[in-house]
Amino acid sequence: MNHPVELLAQAYLKDIVNNKTKMDSDIIETVVNDIRDALHRQFAGETRQEFRLRPSNLGRPKCQLWFDKNKPSKASDLPSNFVINMFLGDVVEAIFKGVLRAMKVEFQDNGKIDLDVDGENITGEYDLILNGKVDDVKSASAWSYKHKFDNYNSLAEHDAFGYIPQLAIYSEGTGADVGGWWVINKGNGEFKYVTAEQMDKDAVMKDVRSTVAYINNDEPFERCYEPIPETYRGKESGNMVLPKECHFCKYKYDCWDNIQELPSKVSQAKEPPMVEYISLA
Ligand code: SF4
Repeated sequence: MNHPVELLAQAYLKDIVNNKTKMDSDIIETVVNDIRDALHRQFAGETRQEFRLRPSNLGRPKCQLWFDKNKPSKASDLPSNFVINMFLGDVVEAIFKGVLRAMKVEFQDNGKIDLDVDGENITGEYDLILNGKVDDVKSASAWSYKHKFDNYNSLAEHDAFGYIPQLAIYSEGTGADVGGWWVINKGNGEFKYVTAEQMDKDAVMKDVRSTVAYINNDEPFERCYEPIPETYRGKESGNMVLPKECHFCKYKYDCWDNIQELPSKVSQAKEPPMVEYISLA
């Protein structure tokens, strides 16, 4: 079922397209101010922060957080498009909130949380509270919009960035109920609301506490994932490939010292896709 504000926003934007309404200039100014702040933050601020446990990283695999704390210099360089990509996310959030304001939807804008999680002080900033529920705004690629943010369960399957724990922490920190995600497709501007009402917040927070303990107790490094047997038409080739969760990990070349990126050993395609092998038979 659609969020009521989702339907209102679609109707409002249709009216903008059809010249039936206009965004007031004071709201446009608010959007511009938010975008100016984002420019300062992304291009003129200190974007590289010292490691600390935050709502935005506590849901990531423990092994990556271990590297962040203990071997940050082993991270691969971020690509040059990273900063523009981050900025685009901020722009999308600013415009989305401008649309909410233009529709006179009452919401609590960005607020700070300061939460004690088993002795660790977790601070951060949530995106908005609407109808008593804490929501996050996410900009997504076309693939991610369609597949990852199809619904709560599909996000739970692909939650490498820990969006679910992040929202649970915001809910704990604000005392507001868990809401969901306003997701905007960066490819074409469409948007939707993905509810997190199925979340078992206690179970999610238990995992968060376990991550806090793992990092703070300086436990020995342990990979969260194992190599995957390569298969072709249901049969194993004997080769082992990198787990999919590790593909985008910036520590993969230190974590696995034998990654070989080779054309697929089993594909029959003229141009076989590239595969990251851990070992060959
Ligand atoms: S490469 Fe995989 S196992 Fe290693 S730290 Fe990254 S996510 Fe964890």
